[in-house]
Amino acid sequence: MATEFTGYLSEYGSFPVLVDGQGQVRWAHWRYKRSVKPSQIVVHYTAGGTFDSIAIYLSKANEREVSIHFVIGRKGELAMICPLDWIAYHAGNWDHNVRSIGIELVHADDDSPYPEPQLEALTQLCRKLCALFDIPITSIIGHRDIVQTICPRNLDLDMVRARVAGQQPVPKPQPSPIAKSEHLYGVHEGPVDWLDGVHGWFVDTVNVWWASEGKDYSSIIDRGHTVIARLNNGYGDAGTLPLPHLYDEFAQQVELVVSRTPNCHIWQIGNEMNHEQERPDGQPILPQPYAACYAKCRARIHQVPGHEHDEVAIGAVAPWNPQTTYAGNPSGDWVRYFLDVIREIRALKCPIDAITLHAYTHTHNPDEVTSETKMNAPFGNRCFYFRAYRDFLEALPADLHSLPIYITEADPSDSAWSDVNNGYVRKLYDEIDLWDQQHPKGPHIWCLILYRGKDVADDKWYFADKAGVRQDWEAAKQHRYTNR
Ligand SMILES: [Zn+2]
Repeated sequence: MATEFTGYLSEYGSFPVLVDGQGQVRWAHWRYKRSVKPSQIVVHYTAGGTFDSIAIYLSKANEREVSIHFVIGRKGELAMICPLDWIAYHAGNWDHNVRSIGIELVHADDDSPYPEPQLEALTQLCRKLCALFDIPITSIIGHRDIVQTICPRNLDLDMVRARVAGQQPVPKPQPSPIAKSEHLYGVHEGPVDWLDGVHGWFVDTVNVWWASEGKDYSSIIDRGHTVIARLNNGYGDAGTLPLPHLYDEFAQQVELVVSRTPNCHIWQIGNEMNHEQERPDGQPILPQPYAACYAKCRARIHQVPGHEHDEVAIGAVAPWNPQTTYAGNPSGDWVRYFLDVIREIRALKCPIDAITLHAYTHTHNPDEVTSETKMNAPFGNRCFYFRAYRDFLEALPADLHSLPIYITEADPSDSAWSDVNNGYVRKLYDEIDLWDQQHPKGPHIWCLILYRGKDVADDKWYFADKAGVRQDWEAAKQHRYTNR
């Protein structure tokens, strides 16, 4: 028999009803009229069937005498099959039948998601009913809240109530599948054996155009360490990011590299974007284009199977560096730049997963690690030494304090490393541990990475050939500082 929706019951507003081929309304089984106004909404699922089959079955005297006020199909189809001043038999409990309105959602007997059109129809219907009968939103419940049943299975009633209240559904926090090393210690591009005895961190610099085959980090990860890959368009004039009209190609290449790098799950997009040495063709990278590139890369990374929950980190902004100026930031303040990047990413409705920072001293003097000395004007409120990292973190909006912070470069920036064991490295880790202890609610620093251990002895900041630094490092590791 064909079903179609015609007619409205004016006394209850405008609810569609089910009619048969003769134009007769098909009502569900009923016997008693209500004596009290409805004060509760009970939601069910059908455990199979289609909208038509369920609606027709319930709208006649079926052998189980079950009935319901509304049926909602998976495309949002809606029919009222029991008038609201009659009692429907659905709750398995007479007290609840007497005072509730029952809604059946057509849904298979499994945990597949409820389709959006169906959820939206349910939301609209509940809103209307709550307004008509002055039903509190907290009285929208599931069948399982009344009797022992799994009905309505995986329907999230908190989400339904939030939608009816007009709030954005609050996504349940997803447990991070990223196994993160428990210790603070890390090295930039090695040497991995420096991490022996701890579960540490390894930062790799990746030119995405040279890494089309992907990267194999299994030898590092198998030793219990976590890898952060810093993704670059290139070095020098190529720019850490390309020019904006090439962002789509860049993001596509990022996706390719990620798809061929199965066991890395933390990605840093670009590096020191406010530093003139990182500019493509000398063109400054302003916060708004950076944000656009970040959002494109994040979307691409998250569509790679196995990388749906990867952390995509904002590239580290160069501290002390005033080279990138623009309207709103005429002095080129790096903390302002950092905040503008965050603001622009959020303006795109793109979530932020993590933040990377760089923090330096000027020389290999341990006192510079904890120095509170400020810079000269116009940056008299900014730290001149290592604690420049605190300027970023203290400016971070409070609702982002749960984001993981990774300090992916630390070194004596002007003098570079001397071959001494003077407690400098120990002091770095003491400082980060102190920060974490003083900020139990975040922002929380997960690692501090020494720059740089790659076997290129002509690099100014290469430390791995310095026995004094190694001794200092081993002494620092003795603390076994953790990030938990
Ligand atoms: Zn039920």
